[in-house]
Amino acid sequence: MTAIDLTSASVVERAQRISEDVAGPNAEAVDRHARFPVESVEALRVGGLLASLIPVDLGGGGAGIREVADVVAILGRGCASTAMVYAMHQIQVACLVRHGRTPVLAAYLREVAADGLLLASATTEVGIGGDVRSSSCAVERSPGRFHLTKEAPVISYGAFADGILATARRTPASPASDQVLVVCRRAHTRLEQRSDWDTLGFRGTCSNGFTLTSDDDDAYVMPDSYADISSQTMLPTSHILWASVWLGLATAAVDKARGFVQAAARKSPGSTPPAALHLAELVAVHQQLADLVQSAARRYDEAWGIDDREVVEAMGFVIAMNALKVSASQLVVDIVSRAMQICGMAGYSNGSPLSLGRLLRDAYGAALMVNNDRINANNAQLLLIHREH
Ligand SMILES: Cc1cc2nc3c(=O)[nH]c(=O)nc-3n(C[C@H](O)[C@H](O)[C@H](O)COP(=O)(O)OP(=O)(O)OC[C@H]3O[C@@H](n4cnc5c(N)ncnc54)[C@H](O)[C@@H]3O)c2cc1C
Repeated sequence: MTAIDLTSASVVERAQRISEDVAGPNAEAVDRHARFPVESVEALRVGGLLASLIPVDLGGGGAGIREVADVVAILGRGCASTAMVYAMHQIQVACLVRHGRTPVLAAYLREVAADGLLLASATTEVGIGGDVRSSSCAVERSPGRFHLTKEAPVISYGAFADGILATARRTPASPASDQVLVVCRRAHTRLEQRSDWDTLGFRGTCSNGFTLTSDDDDAYVMPDSYADISSQTMLPTSHILWASVWLGLATAAVDKARGFVQAAARKSPGSTPPAALHLAELVAVHQQLADLVQSAARRYDEAWGIDDREVVEAMGFVIAMNALKVSASQLVVDIVSRAMQICGMAGYSNGSPLSLGRLLRDAYGAALMVNNDRINANNAQLLLIHREH
């Protein structure tokens, strides 16, 4: 990386430098070796970007979701795995900022900001699959303490995280849907790896499976129900920030298609290359995705700014956030496929500067991160009774 003073540039400028100078140049190796983008995450830590969303009075940058979404999209243009790690970390931070209003959790957020801690998520569970609103594991309490064991088939960058926010039933007697969110701090948590992460895409997220065991002060069981945390914060921020990752990787595909068409135009001055028309169509679809993501981020930021929980819990808002996820995850595949059509063999060949292989493989992960079938099924239920437009 160049010797840029990352702390004096704006958040967006810092993200730009990290994307171009660190994440982008390492993306190929991260993908090939399915390795954690350690240098990019370190640059994000040094640049103060891991703490962007934490309020200033707790030592963070005080940014809103819109600004963080911009950062995610910029990183995604360089390396989608880096962007996904950053997005998932910020989703956990958002949950703590909005729902960790106790002195102990506020002190933990201060530590996250001061030490650049990296937070991960364990919502998926063996036997439950992607139904994030159900848990089989449960929090067991003894006076002032909690114990949790969770069989987690996927914890992105679990081995590199300083803390993991895990869902669980409130008590061993609670039904599957009565969940809480538990902050599992590294020093109080054991991870035993159960499975590897050798996937088609997002290989740098290193999302191995683990048995997670945590024993700590019960002040680290978040006070709000997971039902509230999910509807007010985790679901909308996940869908906005994941979609921002996909926007970033879609932009990288458009960059390659544009490069191909402009090179063809330079070879035949005075004539328009046939693929230019496809590029115009591609840019229109990319614009749809950008507008979709940016308007959702703005809408959520407005509600977040005035702390209006009723707005984000309204049925119309939930339907819109679910629809954002489904649309964005389909548009990203469409965009990368169109770019492939334009670039032809140059896009299809591994090792070519215009290769689209990694982008296409990453793009196919989007529909699976909480399966679109589950999200559509949820919206189908809501639409049976929803009256607004
Ligand atoms: C890159 C990446 C990173 C991830 N990181 C994490 C992480 O850090 N932490 C974490 O907890 N999880 C993580 N996940 C897991 C993820 O978010 C999903 O929840 C999980 O992958 C779902 O697993 P599944 O596809 O096997 O299960 P399912 O969601 O159960 O889907 C399997 C099949 O069942 C169908 N299906 C089952 N039940 C229903 C239903 N009720 N309605 C409709 N369709 C249904 C689906 O259509 C699909 O065909 C990650 C996933 C990816 C791709």
